[in-house]
Amino acid sequence: MLKYLVSLLCFSAAAQAFNLADTSAQARQSFWPNGAKAAVSLSYDDALNSQLDNAVPELAKHDFRATFYLTLSSPAFVKRQAEWQQLAAAGHELGNHTIHHACQASKPGREWVAKDKDLEQWPIVKISAEIQAANAQLQQLDGKTLRTFTPPCSETQAKDGDYLPTVAVLFTGSKLQGPPVTSLNQLAGNTLPTWFPVAPTLAELIAYTEQAAQHGTIASITFHGVGGEHLAVDNTVHQQFLAYLAQNRDKFWVDSYANISQHLQKELLQQRLLSKP
Ligand SMILES: [Zn+2]
Repeated sequence: MLKYLVSLLCFSAAAQAFNLADTSAQARQSFWPNGAKAAVSLSYDDALNSQLDNAVPELAKHDFRATFYLTLSSPAFVKRQAEWQQLAAAGHELGNHTIHHACQASKPGREWVAKDKDLEQWPIVKISAEIQAANAQLQQLDGKTLRTFTPPCSETQAKDGDYLPTVAVLFTGSKLQGPPVTSLNQLAGNTLPTWFPVAPTLAELIAYTEQAAQHGTIASITFHGVGGEHLAVDNTVHQQFLAYLAQNRDKFWVDSYANISQHLQKELLQQRLLSKP
């Protein structure tokens, strides 16, 4: 009997050791959940009516979660606050896009930047305080303490320097306009390059997403208007793109950037630990 128990214990210890080895091998092979080849972060900037009216129903149809970077002074945010709150209840992320959307007024084509919203006139302390206030307001809506950030106009140069390092610690990740990610090593910090497509074709959206799958990285896409409003994507193209992602669920893990960035940090840490001798 004793002999039987000892051999059973030995077997179970060996099985456990095997399982552990097996799990870490699988983790190395598949960086993203469920063996996906790439993560896809769909985001929608500026709190626009066309996002609530056109994008949200399409996301719901495919059971996808996205990130809505809300400008808290946007009329569509102020008037439809309950609807944005419902998005959080449905699992979407309410991301921080500041309150007043301050951008650099001196750039060409920036006539629309009001004098009191010129980032070049704001010291770091002012924009940082606004971003913190926006976080507090968003927490009132969704109860969350972890979220991500996209700087308005993807600009971070305030009057007295780059404000991003000061506020980056408040977020699990920040998106900045940039080229496609071709290696996970590019994501060691917590900024994610994102694409701002304006009137993209379906083929362009698919090509961008497929290159992420090829490299095993993230396709981060920042939409603005959907079927109307500024920097818009055509409504049908947006619908077809979401349908494409849904048809390729095994390849693409579509989720909010809050969830993707937390997964990314966990996996990168694990990889670093595993690679230590
Ligand atoms: Zn914006």
